[in-house]
This record gives sequence, structure tokens and C-alpha cells, in this order.
Amino acid sequence: MARKFNFYAGPSTLPLPVLEELQAELVDYKGMGLSLVETSHRSKEYDEVHNGAISKVKSLLGLPDNYKVMFIQGGATMQFSMIPMNLLGPGKTSNFINSGAWAKKAIADAKIYGDVEVLYDGKDTNYTTLPDPSSVKTTPSAEYLHITSNETIGGIQWKSFPKTEAPLIADMSSDIMSRPLPVEDFGMIYAGAQKNLGPSGVTLVIMRDDLIAKANQNLGAYLKYATHADSDSLYNTPPVFSIYALGKVLTWIESQGGLAGIEKKNREKAQVVYNAIEAAGGFYKSPVDSAVRSDMNIVFTLADSQLDKEFLAGTAELGMLGLKGHRSVGGFRASLYNAMPLEGAKALAQYMADFAKKHG
Ligand code: PMP
Repeated sequence: MARKFNFYAGPSTLPLPVLEELQAELVDYKGMGLSLVETSHRSKEYDEVHNGAISKVKSLLGLPDNYKVMFIQGGATMQFSMIPMNLLGPGKTSNFINSGAWAKKAIADAKIYGDVEVLYDGKDTNYTTLPDPSSVKTTPSAEYLHITSNETIGGIQWKSFPKTEAPLIADMSSDIMSRPLPVEDFGMIYAGAQKNLGPSGVTLVIMRDDLIAKANQNLGAYLKYATHADSDSLYNTPPVFSIYALGKVLTWIESQGGLAGIEKKNREKAQVVYNAIEAAGGFYKSPVDSAVRSDMNIVFTLADSQLDKEFLAGTAELGMLGLKGHRSVGGFRASLYNAMPLEGAKALAQYMADFAKKHG
């Protein structure tokens, strides 16, 4: 079996040991004579998997006891609505950093439920940089400040975070569990699973108790954070396969040295590709401010875009997939999530050097 180097932005590459374990267990889970995904979500077997996954999130992030871990459906996109439904309302204000495509979507949905004040807008730099975290000050009436820790399309990433008066909420969909985090600085963290945590279908939501307690209670059950927090995310049928796989991915992250170990590997992989961009003497261009360039999604263009097609065809021939840039920005994007091996980054860098030599 030849596994390809998978650079897709999401859903994206998963650790091979996780896929193999899932495969081995799928038909007959631990001698039960049925698979876990055919088992009641109230069963002892599922309960172990479910609560095991919650405990692993807590231990990997070092979460203090006053935070709840929740598994919710609807993707990170539903959080764009659920957050303001719970924490905003008529006359209430939120602060946002507009860092690009994903922040814009979060802002658009928040505006439906309350007021939005954008503290920083990357428009003038075409969303290629971020504000200095120490310059970010929330407004006195703000219920929260929302940031996007990694802009998956633009390829920029906060390297440290603002410490703010209002609770800090971060969309970490594309860099969750890729590095250690000062979790106490956040009121809430959320992430769709399908980049660093497993298959799509589940969204990890981590929220501080005081925010859950002050949230709007006048909502349908599924839309209230309190419902999920109070039932350990078993109020209704959870996405059992996604949570089952997520638990295995977290075990794999532990085996990589936890978040500190993973960060080291991620830095090294990103460095290999950024070095390839820089070493080619202008043949490749990175549009983003190097101080905030993402370790997860490396965006680059060819100085001569007429070569784009040939560049991409060559990657496919070598078994490298998913390098085409997002349709809104063009060029190329290499997503180097946790499960991408160093060899994948090196194979891409070698190809980039060879291609530049041939055409330079
Ligand atoms: N936020 C970010 C930063 C993302 O990268 C994505 C998906 N690519 C989303 C939100 C939307 O996530 P979902 O598809 O899970 O709704």
C-alpha cells in the first residue's frame, strides 16, 4: 500500500496508526461481536471511549477544573452562531480581530445577534499580518473578544495571544493541539476536528464555567452550552465515530511527546518548507509577514504563475496531494498538520528546489 503525502487543508491527513487501529476494530470492537459505531451511546463501552476522550483533552492541554470540554456537532461554523446566541443579544457588544476569511465569517454571524466592534482589520494589508498582541485592548462593554488563532486560507497564525479584560474566545480549528497553550488566558476555545483531531463531524468546545453560567438560557436545548456541559456532551446522540477516532488521535499526540513534542515537529516541518521558499531566490513568494506565518498552512505563489499548472502536475506525479491554493487566493498551500510526517515536508521542499532549478 502506498500512502500519499496529503497536504489537504481539511479534512486532512491522519496518523497511520490511528487509521490502522480503527480498521482493525471496526467490525468487532474488543470481542463484542459488533463495532463501536453500532453500539448504544449509553453503553459502558462507548462511555469509556467518550469520557476517555474528554480526559485526554483535559490532560493534554492542562485544563484547570473550571473549564468544561464539550463535543458539539455543526462544525466550527455553528459556533459562529452559537457563541453570539449564548453570549450576545440586543444591545450587547463583542470585539473581533478581523484577520481574514474565517474571522469574517464569524463576524458576519455575530452581527445577527448583537453588536460587533472590530478592533483590528487586516484589510489594508490584504490580511497578511496580525496586530501585536500587547496592543489589543478590549472595549469596556465587550462581552468577549474573538480571534482566529490560525487563518487556514491566509496562512497567518498568532504566535502569542492578547491578554484582555474581556474573555478571549479563539477559533482554533486549524491549529488546535499543535502547540502548548496558555489556556487560562482564554474564556473559550473551539475547533472543528477535521484538521488536527480526527475526522469531521465533531467540534471540540472548551469553555470556562463562568461563561457557561452567564450565557443566555432562553434557547433550544441543543443550542445552549449549559446543556452540553451538564450532560458531558451526552444530551443527545453524539457523533460516536468522530469522538472515537478523536480519542485515538489524542493518544497518538501523547505518544509524540504531547503538545511540546508536537510543536517541535511542527516547527521543523514548517521551517523546511519556508526555507525552500526562501532558498529559491524569488522563484517562490510567500505573501505573509514572516513574523506571523503559519506553521500549519504554508501559502506561496510562483513568481511566474504561468508555471502553476506544471508545478501542480509534478506534485501529483510524486504522490503529493492537495497543494492547490484556496480558490479565493490562488497559488499553493501546503497544510502541515500534526499527522504530516517530516518526510512529506522534505519531499515537497526537494521538489520545489528541483522545479526552481529546472525553470529558474
Ligand atoms: N474556522 C477555521 C479557521 C477553519 O479553517 C474552518 C474550516 N476550514 C472553519 C472555521 C469552518 O469549520 P467547519 O467546516 O468545521 O464548520
